[in-house]
Amino acid sequence: MREGARQQLSRRQFVSRALGTLGGALFSSPLLGLLSCGVPPPLTNRNTRRVLADLHVHSMINEWNKQTALGVRYPGVAGIAGKMFNASGMDWKKCYDAGVDLLCVTHFNVFDEWLSMPTDPDPEAARKTYMMMDQLEAHLRDKVSQYATLAMNADEMKTLLSVSKDTSEWRIPVVHTVEGGHALGGDLSVVEEFAKRGTAIMTVTHFFNKGIASSANSFPYFPDANSPWPHQGLSEFGKRVISEMEEHGIIVDITHATTTSVDQILQHTTKPVLATHTSSRSLGDHPYSLVDEHIEEIAAGGGLIGILIDPYLLSNYSSASEAEEHGTLRDVVRTIEYLVKLVGHKCVAIGSDFGGFITPPKDMKRLSQIGKLREMMRREFQSETFVDDILANNAIEFLQENWGAKSK
Ligand SMILES: [Zn+2]
Repeated sequence: MREGARQQLSRRQFVSRALGTLGGALFSSPLLGLLSCGVPPPLTNRNTRRVLADLHVHSMINEWNKQTALGVRYPGVAGIAGKMFNASGMDWKKCYDAGVDLLCVTHFNVFDEWLSMPTDPDPEAARKTYMMMDQLEAHLRDKVSQYATLAMNADEMKTLLSVSKDTSEWRIPVVHTVEGGHALGGDLSVVEEFAKRGTAIMTVTHFFNKGIASSANSFPYFPDANSPWPHQGLSEFGKRVISEMEEHGIIVDITHATTTSVDQILQHTTKPVLATHTSSRSLGDHPYSLVDEHIEEIAAGGGLIGILIDPYLLSNYSSASEAEEHGTLRDVVRTIEYLVKLVGHKCVAIGSDFGGFITPPKDMKRLSQIGKLREMMRREFQSETFVDDILANNAIEFLQENWGAKSK
């Protein structure tokens, strides 16, 4: 009766299996320590070229999960989720050594959104998002200050980007972004507060329709993690959210919106929009992926398409496990090629979604391995400049042009 349901788990099954089979034994045992330790890799020379401006990366998700209600009640859950299910990731030092140019770090409250399903709008949502921002800022200040630093606005980002990677002063600029307008907790005034906190980008919607816009499922494991009303589109409140974002200089990100929502968001926006971490419906038939007409419309309006590094959503694998077994950076390069033909290379960028519970390519498990993608692209496109633009320059130029309330 329910075709394809056999390989999928509901949210509750996911959690109960994780707790039941791995339970306290794993997180309280030395096994967890063994999983996290290893021989440190040798230092690499920093790349002085442009390497990567990542429009969407979950650098702090495992740290944040420890602070959630579920994480506090079951201290091992965050560890299990991070080690067993979050197969991609990033390490600040390795990204620094690899010469990564810019990280747009995104905040979303994973356990609250998936599991506890607070009443929407959740009056605690904004407060929790500020806590996530605080946590990232404290991490940058106290733990990784030698590698990365926060950019509060486009000017600060530009200054940081102008520092030569050959010098000891160089740091990776890090930018706050928010995933899901439900982080506003239904309060429009929070948009201005997010802008003041240095938020550059916010997706209008995320896994669930929470009264802002209908959302498309992006996870093969969670058949219930999508909108029960996919054609509902953008709500009246959603329209006001978009107007408020444009007024305060937060860039509208259409990722996760259903086709109907994308249509209506594009009708309502007056400024260029981003799809920070998306894929092409022509290459992989997923509700999450963008149809050609929307890709063309975003590009024609001066927008930018960030491609995520997740073979499952880029192509037509029959299941997540098939994608895990066979998906490679070829899926990413194929998508880049397709989009370049469709809208030109200046409209294409990267939003890896690493650290966000995706299934990474088998030949790139960590963000610091981005050089593998560069090499594959260089062979394909035969132009270093072309590759620099897609991997970094396009995203940097777009943020410099569109982040902030300044009138154009
Ligand atoms: Zn996402």
